[in-house]
Amino acid sequence: MNAERRPRIGVLALQGAVREHVNAIREIGAEPVEVRLPRDLVDLDALILPGGESTTMRKLLDAYNLREPIAAMARNGTPMLGTCAGMILLSTRIADGDEPVFGLLDIEVTRNGYGRQLDSFETELETPSLGDEPMHAVFIRAPMVTSVGDAAEVLATDPDGRPVAVRQGRVLATSFHPELTGDRRMHRLLLTMVEEDARRPA
Ligand code: GLN
Repeated sequence: MNAERRPRIGVLALQGAVREHVNAIREIGAEPVEVRLPRDLVDLDALILPGGESTTMRKLLDAYNLREPIAAMARNGTPMLGTCAGMILLSTRIADGDEPVFGLLDIEVTRNGYGRQLDSFETELETPSLGDEPMHAVFIRAPMVTSVGDAAEVLATDPDGRPVAVRQGRVLATSFHPELTGDRRMHRLLLTMVEEDARRPA
């Protein structure tokens, strides 16, 4: 990353909650880039996989030939944030038998795991590694994290103690929608990962 320019953070814009992530990226002082085609990935410093419908996104990723170039970016260490459906795309295990898409984050998720009664809800999270202030979080047909492997670190838990934000190296994911509230700690953490990356010797 060139220190002269603002970090460029892409948002996969095939489907789903794109606009709010674009606004959040602007708020933290980075440059948002909507990603629809492989050429949109050029020169990105980080990528966000938004919420939406993971089965549809899986199909569109292949239809637009985005799966392999995004996997290659991850292999090269580009920081990534997946929210809700984006978390499903990043996980190594999907409980209902779907094949993993990127398989970068050592967790098992159960799609719509919070159940029909709780299609959508808001709650306060404990986020000890991001400061004492609890994080207000919006869940929409959210995946439930049903197991976390040794390689992954839990950053936030719901009131029942279940993991809802997980990090493994440069891959970060939340089962909730951090773009829908004013709390920018998750987006800032992604930016910190970009800045750490820029300081690594080449
Ligand atoms: N339930 C959706 C899925 O399984 C995710 C919901 C969301 O991203 N808000 O793909």
